[in-house]
Amino acid sequence: MDDCIFCRIVRGELPSDKVLETDEVLAFKDIRPQAPVHVLLIPKKHIPSAHHVTEEDAALVGQLHLAAQRVAEQLGIAGTGYRLVTNIGTHGQQTVHHLHYHLIGGRQLQWPPG
Ligand code: AMP
Ligand code: ZN
Repeated sequence: MDDCIFCRIVRGELPSDKVLETDEVLAFKDIRPQAPVHVLLIPKKHIPSAHHVTEEDAALVGQLHLAAQRVAEQLGIAGTGYRLVTNIGTHGQQTVHHLHYHLIGGRQLQWPPG
């Protein structure tokens, strides 16, 4: 997608603070962190949201989860735990329409979310 900011990050047209990259997946620090660790995990393929994932994306979604584990280990929060969340659509308050998981941790998180 030409005007998608996360596709532009994938193409290197916008800068990002990368923490992990594979052929299919990219993880980089959120520009407005909500916790000491706040990383976004995205597929390089443009998928608008988790609601748009298809059967052919099943392995790719698995890769995102494995990447999340690796990032949590890498950043030292695997032992204390963290949250992996994806916002979908208007009520989900999704603002970037390219599938991404927020990996948030490094402090005690609260539940339920607002
Ligand atoms: P969401 O609101 O769930 O769609 O999440 C989008 C996230 O992308 C927000 O947490 C933003 O702070 C983050 N974000 C937007 N632009 C950038 C960027 N250029 N680099 C890193 N994170 C970004
Ligand atoms: Zn995109």
